[in-house]
Amino acid sequence: MAQCATAGFIGGLCSQHWSAWHADRANTGAFWLMVWSVVLALLFLTNGVLPILPQGSITEAGLFLRSQLVATSVLLAVPTIRSFTRGRPIRWYVVVAGAMMIGRSVLWLTTDLVYAHAVVAGVPQYGPLFEVTFFAPVAVVTSYVAASMYRMPTSRIRHPLRVAGALSLVGLLIAYLMPGGRVAELLVSLWALPLVAVLQAMGVLRARAAEERARRLRGMRGALAAIGNAAWFTKNREALLTLAETAAREQLADATLTGSMRELSHGRFSTEFHSDVGPARDALSRDFLDDLRRIVSVAAERTRLAEDLREAAFTDSLTALPNRHALERHLEQVLARAVENGTPVAVLYCDIDGFKQENDQHGHAWGDDLLRRTARDLRDSVGTDDFVARFGGDEFVLVLADFGSRGELVELARRIRTGSDLEYSSHIQPLLSVGVALWTPGDTAGPEQLLREADTAMFAGKRSGIGVVVFDEELRERMVSDLTLRHELETALVNDEFELHYQPIVDATTLGIVGVEALVRWQHPDGLRMPARWVAFAEETGQIVPIGRRLVVAARVGARRFGLPVAVNFAARQLTEPQFLEHLRLDWGEDDWHLLTLEITESALLENLAHVIDSLTAVRALGARIAIDDFGTGYSSFARLANLPVDVLKIDQAFVRNLDGPGGAAIVRAIVSLAQAYRLDIIAEGVERIDQLERLVVLGVPKLQGYLLGRPSASAPAPVDLSAAGPSRQARAVIASRAARAPGKTIADELAGPVPPVRRAASV
Ligand code: C2E
Ligand code: CA
Ligand code: CA
Repeated sequence: MAQCATAGFIGGLCSQHWSAWHADRANTGAFWLMVWSVVLALLFLTNGVLPILPQGSITEAGLFLRSQLVATSVLLAVPTIRSFTRGRPIRWYVVVAGAMMIGRSVLWLTTDLVYAHAVVAGVPQYGPLFEVTFFAPVAVVTSYVAASMYRMPTSRIRHPLRVAGALSLVGLLIAYLMPGGRVAELLVSLWALPLVAVLQAMGVLRARAAEERARRLRGMRGALAAIGNAAWFTKNREALLTLAETAAREQLADATLTGSMRELSHGRFSTEFHSDVGPARDALSRDFLDDLRRIVSVAAERTRLAEDLREAAFTDSLTALPNRHALERHLEQVLARAVENGTPVAVLYCDIDGFKQENDQHGHAWGDDLLRRTARDLRDSVGTDDFVARFGGDEFVLVLADFGSRGELVELARRIRTGSDLEYSSHIQPLLSVGVALWTPGDTAGPEQLLREADTAMFAGKRSGIGVVVFDEELRERMVSDLTLRHELETALVNDEFELHYQPIVDATTLGIVGVEALVRWQHPDGLRMPARWVAFAEETGQIVPIGRRLVVAARVGARRFGLPVAVNFAARQLTEPQFLEHLRLDWGEDDWHLLTLEITESALLENLAHVIDSLTAVRALGARIAIDDFGTGYSSFARLANLPVDVLKIDQAFVRNLDGPGGAAIVRAIVSLAQAYRLDIIAEGVERIDQLERLVVLGVPKLQGYLLGRPSASAPAPVDLSAAGPSRQARAVIASRAARAPGKTIADELAGPVPPVRRAASV
């Protein structure tokens, strides 16, 4: 009965091992325990039912089965123990012991040497080899078990297992060495119980440990996920480390754990965790700490990278000064503080005079060097608390929160203007234009406005040549009106408020219209605005460029409408546009270039020489003509003129007005002879009176323009009728003689020969 009950109990444990093994296939201990339990349960069952079996062959079969089950259960101790103790390889032990047991079974069945094939008074009779054939394989198995247990790592289970192993072995010895009897029969299966009990306990412990491990794993995974998540959002490395430290303490249940972080080269980081208890012993903890370290280090690297990028975004790479963004941020903070403390703030806007030209002339390396020098100079000229930024290009801005008196501030600005770099004083040291804007408590100006004020002051200083200007009321008014004008121009462009008026250009001999000059008119809603009021401003702001393009399109329409050549005025700013030629071709179209004359002032021609001359040469090659406007007012030497792509000289109105004055006629005569020498056409502007016309004709000017001959008008130019005024007899005589000398030809025709080759006019 006891045997059967034990069989049932062990069978029950079997299902527990099965579920443990089912949950974790790597748990081989559970698997072998399960198999072993099955065999043991069958052994107990067999032992239990043996006494009640009918005598004869059934008992014989039962006995044989029992001997096989005993052998198997002994053999199974090997893999089972191994999976718990991680002992040495088992293959040879199993092979040897298994072979012995098979041999025994063969002897059992075929001879009387092991089993005598007789049961006397319920006690089976065994042969002489019964013990030997049994204990030989048992010895093999026992030696394995003993060796494994001996090498088993120290654990709570080691001693109970040893004791149980010893007990089972003793039980086995007794069962087989005892003279046959009831006790011996009982012991045949009971010997395994101690070992089984301990191993079962071990199985249960192991399942618990697995559960515990799974629980820790879950906890660690959760902690890692939380830290990983935090790492994405944090900008603070130290805070993340603290977070990781707390998590590590919690997961490893070690309050002495501390984290540390070290920055290596190239923005890399190394994170360490240290415990007073010593390094973590189990793999799970080690892996956890490794992962934690990696997450924290990578996040630290990411934040460092972000910092570096942010730093780069706020630093000018050439001069290493803070850049425009940094300036804006700084100014905002300084103003906020100034509002709070009721202290003034000064902004100095500095710009290198003539930087562009110098840079073009000396090369970009030179320009970079100058910028770096200037940056250093500026930095040295103020205290460490003051802020110096590169605003862009050749512009620098200083922000001073503590600058003494206004006089001291201007003094500083003057020093900045001349620069103090002795080392480079032998080099060309351009001046700086400095605009000063002051913010005093109570002002409402924000950073942007303060910068604009300083910029306006700087520009005023540059334009006037004074160099240092402090922003004041007058400048403020100008700034406001400039701003208004700028907006109005923008609106005008959108609303198409610009149109062209055409003023006739007439042949001096025939008074016939030979062309028109297109003059822009701004039809502002408040009334007509003449170009003198705004063209220069539009040039300064660059707005003349889009306006000018519209006018070229309109001029082309005009030329078509009147069937006359049209002269269009171009500001210097338009000519220096990189896409000037491309846009001109787009706006004018691809033909009728002979109907276009570009009027350009002397200064525009000379300012940006190389680039502009290339463009004009190209325009000329297309068939258009180039006229120098307001000729004589500039400073160009006649010699220089000879090398320029020019077709027409327009004598400035001032000379025409001054014809009666001292030397007035001489100047016009000189211009005429110059033009003849270079085969240039001439137009005299501003002809208002008949006497001016007469004198110009006498002086040999071939073409005329002025109110006398026609005012600018939107409609087609009307033929000139001077009958009211009536040219004087002298003038008529001159005209007649000219006409006779070259019938049907005008002076202009006489002059217009083939375009002279560009040559040096050394003799002029
Ligand atoms: P400008 O090119 O020298 O144009 C001649 C100016 O003299 C015109 O003034 C014209 O109306 C004026 N004028 C013509 N005949 C006489 C005269 O007999 N007596 C007097 N006192 N003045 C006369 P406007 O149209 O006011 O143009 C002024 C200046 O504005 C132009 O001088 C030119 O520099 C500029 N401008 C005009 N239209 C344009 C344009 O479309 N583009 C550009 N960039 N500038 C233009
Ligand atoms: Ca003109
Ligand atoms: Ca002119």
